[in-house]
Amino acid sequence: MTFIPYSRQNIQPSDIDAVVEVLQSEYLTQGPAIARFEQAFAHRHSVRHALAVSNATAGLHMACVALGLGPGGLLWTSPLSFVASSNCARYCNAEVDFVDIDPSTRNMSLPALEAKLARAEQAGRLPDVVVPVDFSGLPADLKQIRALADRYGFKILQDASHAAGASYLGAPVGSAWSDITVFSFHAVKIVTTAEGGMVTTQDDALAAKLQLLRSHGITREPALLQNQDEGAWYYEQQCLGWNYRITDIQAALGLSQLERMEDMQTRRVARADRYDRMLAELPVILPMRIDDRSSSWHLYAIEIDEQRTKATRREVFDALRAAQIGANVHYIPIHTQPYYAALGFRPGDFPAAEHYYERALSLPLFPAMTDEEQDRVVDVLKRLLSK
Ligand SMILES: *Cc1c(COP(=O)(O)O)cnc(C)c1O
Repeated sequence: MTFIPYSRQNIQPSDIDAVVEVLQSEYLTQGPAIARFEQAFAHRHSVRHALAVSNATAGLHMACVALGLGPGGLLWTSPLSFVASSNCARYCNAEVDFVDIDPSTRNMSLPALEAKLARAEQAGRLPDVVVPVDFSGLPADLKQIRALADRYGFKILQDASHAAGASYLGAPVGSAWSDITVFSFHAVKIVTTAEGGMVTTQDDALAAKLQLLRSHGITREPALLQNQDEGAWYYEQQCLGWNYRITDIQAALGLSQLERMEDMQTRRVARADRYDRMLAELPVILPMRIDDRSSSWHLYAIEIDEQRTKATRREVFDALRAAQIGANVHYIPIHTQPYYAALGFRPGDFPAAEHYYERALSLPLFPAMTDEEQDRVVDVLKRLLSK
């Protein structure tokens, strides 16, 4: 029996050709493929600026710095995310806090955010940056979060690592509402560059800042130089940045992947629809669908409904693994990680995220998944849950 992973990159001959072409070209790092990839991504997501980076974690870090987060600052995010969503604040020596999830969307809860902001205003400790996470690829409530950002004066850094190609209120994720949006191109994500990410913004000044931070704080742009240009070799380091650049090899892969994004997306949607139909009668809670937004379906995440079955999530997970099916669990709530416990967070702090985690299961979903593979997953679930 072959192993079915929860996610798998989709590499076609055209991807391989694109990579080989760069390997045989003049530039491996800062060549023409990067600009082409950035332009194609910006076009697809209807956004003015797209900057490719070495990974989304690097993108989140430099986005925090570009938004002015620093020592004494405060970032809020969802506890139901990968640790990178909050670690980015720690890189800046800023504080982290979390806003519990809405159990139905699994994204940051709007009422919880509103209530926490009201309390924070009273206490005189409002967040500088809020990081909504588009969990599983379903866009967060960005329009309402924007209204709160305008009222309370925080910046929105959207962690759209799951959500390349998703749309919200008729527009691609990243094109509106947030100050900066970050996407991941890790191998399990929607499109891949192996490791990689994209940082998007509509704001020219933020884009210029991000450009500097991505590459040591260095610029060669004549218009941006602070001192007299001393010759064609001249560059200036104007702030402290990092080497968060992507390579031309990766950008060529990303560009080639982007060309197939719609096709891969159609396949993901078809798989998600088929799961919905096949699992409808089982004691599980299916992913929510919302009319005004479309998910990228990075994850197909269900919950074992304890009220309707005796089977536990652990049993179902183990049975899937025993049947060579790579189910997964997203995510261990960030605040329960030892690192965050040492910062003072405790189990019970964000009960909705913790409750979700107890019952959650991410089922295999990837563009090349076959009916037979999906049937195998559903058969195991039926065997355990129909009892
Ligand atoms: C994958 C992921 C990241 C980090 O992405 P990398 O490209 O691996 O650094 C950040 N946030 C979320 C929600 C993710 O799923």
